[in-house]
Amino acid sequence: MKMRYISTRDKTISLKASQAIIQGISKDGGLFVPENIPLVNIEKLKNLNYKDLAYEIMKGFLTDFSDGDLKECIDKAYNEKFDTPEIAPLVEVGGKFYLELYHGPTIAFKDMALSILPHLLETAMKINDIKEEVVILTATSGDTGKAALEGFANVHGIKIVVFFPEDGVSEIQKLQMKTQEGNNTFVVGINGNFDHAQNGVKKLFNDVEFVETLKKDNYILSSANSINIGRLIPQIVYYFHSYFTLLRQGKISEGEKINVCVPTGNFGNILAAFYARRMGLPINRFICASNDNKVLTDFFESGIYDRRRDLKLTSSPSMDILISSNLERFLFHMSSEDDKLISQIMKDLVEKGYYEFNKDKLVDFFGAYTDEGEVLETIDQVFKKHDYLLDTHTAVAARAYEKYEAEYKDETKLVIASTASPFKFASSVAEAIGINVEDKSEFEIVDELAAKANIKVPEAVLSLKEKEILHENKCNKEEMKDMVVGFLKVGGNND
Ligand SMILES: *Cc1c(COP(=O)(O)O)cnc(C)c1O
Repeated sequence: MKMRYISTRDKTISLKASQAIIQGISKDGGLFVPENIPLVNIEKLKNLNYKDLAYEIMKGFLTDFSDGDLKECIDKAYNEKFDTPEIAPLVEVGGKFYLELYHGPTIAFKDMALSILPHLLETAMKINDIKEEVVILTATSGDTGKAALEGFANVHGIKIVVFFPEDGVSEIQKLQMKTQEGNNTFVVGINGNFDHAQNGVKKLFNDVEFVETLKKDNYILSSANSINIGRLIPQIVYYFHSYFTLLRQGKISEGEKINVCVPTGNFGNILAAFYARRMGLPINRFICASNDNKVLTDFFESGIYDRRRDLKLTSSPSMDILISSNLERFLFHMSSEDDKLISQIMKDLVEKGYYEFNKDKLVDFFGAYTDEGEVLETIDQVFKKHDYLLDTHTAVAARAYEKYEAEYKDETKLVIASTASPFKFASSVAEAIGINVEDKSEFEIVDELAAKANIKVPEAVLSLKEKEILHENKCNKEEMKDMVVGFLKVGGNND
């Protein structure tokens, strides 16, 4: 039986996996969700390595991919690009388990999915006999852009264009993007903030004339953002991997439940944990951690999702978000797949700026948030006490869990999703552990951080020093279309 993917806003819309990956979002604005969630046999999976586990988990969802194709995608994704053979190591610190999801090429958890999405997309195009070339258009606040560039670089039949805000990303993030290799990559800095970049990209997707021009030259547009099921499904794997690692190390017994705590922005990572439980993984509770942009904390407390507030810029920028898109999928499942309801509340969110959902249905999910002062304090405390260095996002999760733990006196074993290397947010982390960062270059800070914490600078950061700047493009937000047209050399006289 082939798995179908239905829209959260209209269940009669249904596609095969490969089609849902190509399309990204449903035409009615809804998100694709699997019509039913495959159950797995824990006993059979518990001794598999990461790649074999990925295959067993993903094949239940990607039923129109051949076994050979899926295995090839996995082989191309989870290889030496990761700096550790376990792909996602689990580290015990003070009785808690940190699942380090940042050992990929761009040292943030986005690599877990974006290293495989390009191969899934390429395969999906082949399955559906699509001959056009795909152009991935993305605006980024830092992590997604680089991970997408790295994943899509030199993938056949695909070009990728990334717009980033000149003044809205860290020095390391900017260098990572401007040094990107691959003859199918194009990186542009926008004079403006992330919203300008994001809105500009949205405009291009909705520009009928532009889309037509591309089509004439044999290009179709696609995006790599986190609502694509091709990003969601690979993320389920590492929750199983963490559980089996605990089992093999004798830290838990068979069938014992664990809690998971996830630093959350777009709700993609934690949703993957929710799917893992639906597949049979013994998860007790989900703790959804937010930074000062605590829309989700408020939501899990009150049932009211209210985006009517100002976005705050924090030291955990990848979680600076007011609309967590993937929450829509969760609410679809928790409302017994009530597509009419989801359609209505998503309309409310656009028109009124808020919606209300029956709080009693949000079982086993808890929200907690960590403010800016607490982030730095937590990094310092954990470092002093356990000699373990957290990045700012992971620190948000660690502190949020402490608050949950104090309130609920829950002693269930805990897995915390550790989403970025501390070196990716070097100045904040350095400052937190008492390094003076004033007037120092990013690389000086990185070196001092490595020396004080006695850990190696990841190759992904080291290599930046030697790399050549390959992308110097800058533009105003009004010029984004011209930049894409210039890169693709479209719109010429085709007669
Ligand atoms: C994207 C990101 C997050 C948030 O993940 P979501 O799936 O959007 O909830 C957290 N931490 C880091 C470092 C990220 O890059």
